[in-house]
Amino acid sequence: MSKDGSKPTTPVRRLAARSSVSRPVVTPIYPSVVYASTSPDQLDAQYEGGEFGFTYAREGHPNADLLATRIDQMEGGTGGVVTGSGMAAVTAAALGVLKSGDHILGGDQLYGRSLRLMAEDLPRFGIETSLADPTNRDALASAIRPNTRMILVEVVSNPTLRLADMEAIYELAKAHGLLVVVDNTFTTPSAYHPFAEGADIVVHSITKLLAGHSDVTLGYVAARDPQLAETIRSFAVTTGMTPSPNECWLAERGLYTFDLRYQKSCENAAYLAEFLSEQPGVKRVLYPGRSDHPDHARAKTLLNGAFGNMVSFEIAGGRAGANALVKAMPDLPFAPTLGDVGTTLSHPATSSHRALTPEAREKLGMSEGFFRISVGIEDIDLLKTDFAAGCAAAAKL
Ligand SMILES: *Cc1c(COP(=O)(O)O)cnc(C)c1O
Repeated sequence: MSKDGSKPTTPVRRLAARSSVSRPVVTPIYPSVVYASTSPDQLDAQYEGGEFGFTYAREGHPNADLLATRIDQMEGGTGGVVTGSGMAAVTAAALGVLKSGDHILGGDQLYGRSLRLMAEDLPRFGIETSLADPTNRDALASAIRPNTRMILVEVVSNPTLRLADMEAIYELAKAHGLLVVVDNTFTTPSAYHPFAEGADIVVHSITKLLAGHSDVTLGYVAARDPQLAETIRSFAVTTGMTPSPNECWLAERGLYTFDLRYQKSCENAAYLAEFLSEQPGVKRVLYPGRSDHPDHARAKTLLNGAFGNMVSFEIAGGRAGANALVKAMPDLPFAPTLGDVGTTLSHPATSSHRALTPEAREKLGMSEGFFRISVGIEDIDLLKTDFAAGCAAAAKL
């Protein structure tokens, strides 16, 4: 007590901000790790689900909660959980559900790290894994074992942009009682709705198109069955896969422009695919919206009229042609990611698929001249200028 009887003030005791009758338009960031309840009774009610309240940030916080709800709405699901990365979401879907002795079947062109999870990590926990061509019904059917429990698939494969036979996958899953996990990162909720089509679990790398600015790494996983969703959430919380408020806030900010960005990127991708096919030195262009794409008919039925923002192509001249192309377009980031506002270019042979032998890459259709473009929202004329210069440089060799 001070002389006049008032309590001494100390900045250590936190003050609540003055409450405002008007609300902030933008979501505040809630960095608080812990939340104070008013009594043990209330805390008890929070844990038992009688009252809603946050307790500890790893278990949940407003920024993650809001972001998960937004993506739930886009996916037509409920109870999704945001994770620290897309790979955390894939891992939670597998390790949070499967047990030793189960078998998981994966598409043979999954995201690189998902392939690695299948090849190296799940087997250490006694989970059997194998891969099959997801475009081929017979290959899928014959890969199913008595202990198969789950199929992990991407609707559009990376980087050859093949379309999985989703109809066959849902049919097989139904017949054998399997859980279908769809990694919807490439297709996004704009082009494909896994839950509406029959998927049990949806995962996303929010890092890519949903957040859209290459400045945040996050993932999302949701299950159709509420109990399964709770199992996955609990696994993510226990293993510390849950994200920081700052990242969630940034991703939420990106999400507001997702529809516009995706629409414009798809438009640009269609133009660029056409333009590339007319350039010197271009041996082939892969884009699901083109009638010469091997899965064009399937893309038309599966993708809701949006053929995606990814275009792949092969330039003549092998590695030398590839080097010449990249060097001739210095303003276009040569970077192995996707879904940024700006166009980026990646070379699978030296990045995502470098672990494969040249023969294995060749079999998948990825030569040294093979590139994958993640098309952004810039003016199409700018892209044409860049790629014209790149292709001309490769063709001149
Ligand atoms: C990038 C990506 C992932 C992994 O996401 P991260 O956020 O990088 O962990 C998973 N699946 C697909 C299809 C991806 O493109």
